Amino acid sequence: MKPVRSSDYPMLPLEDAWRRIASALSPLSPVHERLALVSGLVLAEDIVAQDNMPPFAAASMDGYAVISSDASSERTVTGEQNAGIKLDLAVTGGTAVRIMTGAPLPAGADSVIPFEDTVEADGVVRLRSAVEPGANVRPVGQDFAIGEIVLSRGSVLGPAEIGLLAALGHSRVMVHPRPRVSIMATGNELVTVDETPKPGQIRDSNSLALFTAATACGFEAVTLPHPIGDDSRDLEEALAGALTGSDMLVTSGGVSMGTFDLIKPLLARLGEILIGRVAIKPGKPLTFAMVSGKPIFGLPGFPVSSLVCFEQFVRPALRRLSGRRLLWRPCVEVRLAQALRHEPDRTEFQRAIVEPDAEGLTARSTGSQSSGRLKSLVGANALLILPIGTGDFPAGSRVMAFLTNQPEVSEDLPIFHPGKKP
Ligand code: AMP
Ligand code: MG
Repeated sequence: MKPVRSSDYPMLPLEDAWRRIASALSPLSPVHERLALVSGLVLAEDIVAQDNMPPFAAASMDGYAVISSDASSERTVTGEQNAGIKLDLAVTGGTAVRIMTGAPLPAGADSVIPFEDTVEADGVVRLRSAVEPGANVRPVGQDFAIGEIVLSRGSVLGPAEIGLLAALGHSRVMVHPRPRVSIMATGNELVTVDETPKPGQIRDSNSLALFTAATACGFEAVTLPHPIGDDSRDLEEALAGALTGSDMLVTSGGVSMGTFDLIKPLLARLGEILIGRVAIKPGKPLTFAMVSGKPIFGLPGFPVSSLVCFEQFVRPALRRLSGRRLLWRPCVEVRLAQALRHEPDRTEFQRAIVEPDAEGLTARSTGSQSSGRLKSLVGANALLILPIGTGDFPAGSRVMAFLTNQPEVSEDLPIFHPGKKP
């Protein structure tokens, strides 16, 4: 009789697995980076204004700088103040200075009347309407004042934030660097996308699928030029190479119980395995280890398993390295359009299309959920969560679903049972 193969690793509930990952990872050490390179990164310092913005009272329209309380509707034009220069002009009773948008307000003036509301002839301008004090003037410090925190640590840098930093003269800022992930496909049966598979071989689709998943969320990704065969020495060499210069390594394949599943023993030898099995479907053999202080995810080889595990574990882990606080996509209650079978031993992620209708949000399955069937992910916009400990779901029942086309909104892993609050 053949001996029964049993795993050395406990089967962790999803929540415990995530907690182990979260506590092993912290944001990458901040670097001082040029403003042109920080788009999408997380600020690692508070930015305090060293200047008022705007630094001087300025016209916000083209027109005439005047004293609003002047009684006369006619003023003698004594000069012209353009933007970019501070002339020694002053406005006194009965006079006005022609002024352009962005130009400093001359001494004495308190408002600007737009050209549209005036007529100028022979050096005299006639005001066709009254002007309020402060009209069309941006006062000193309207945006922010000296000493104010204008951006706080943890802010995600987008166009507005980077514009603000530029306005303040910060040509470099402290940010958490963009995590760089190496992707390594493993399996004797794999050839590259450019090769024609021989009998028994298949094309490596995981490398490009995982590369796309990583770059789509703004991370830097590199794939190995070739899949690595199931050979301990080749795997060790490729792993060492891939780990150098990356913040994380993601492998696919070779984490199950087969004779040629060599990733777990290799990781155990080189570092520490923190997760060896998780009670999820797909993705049971998911492996997470720390080697030389760097995280390594060993994803199962089945194309759907690897992408679902990327979505559920690798993406939030990369976000954590990047310093982002929001790790989880919206998790919402949906109504099942059809019955779903579910074994209670694992938390299952079913690919679905969620659409609003009169009942709220309704979820339709994408068909056969076999973990090799990539088409079950094509067009899906949600992962339905069928929690561990629950059985089959009749049509019309309510389950929680991650909306996989929506950006992250939550710091904490959501609760997977409808109606329950964290
Ligand atoms: P494994 O996890 O190595 O047992 O592989 C599970 C299944 O996924 C097998 O049918 C493999 O042929 C397939 N597979 C493994 N790696 C890849 C890959 N990179 N691209 C496509 N299919 C793969
Ligand atoms: Mg394999």
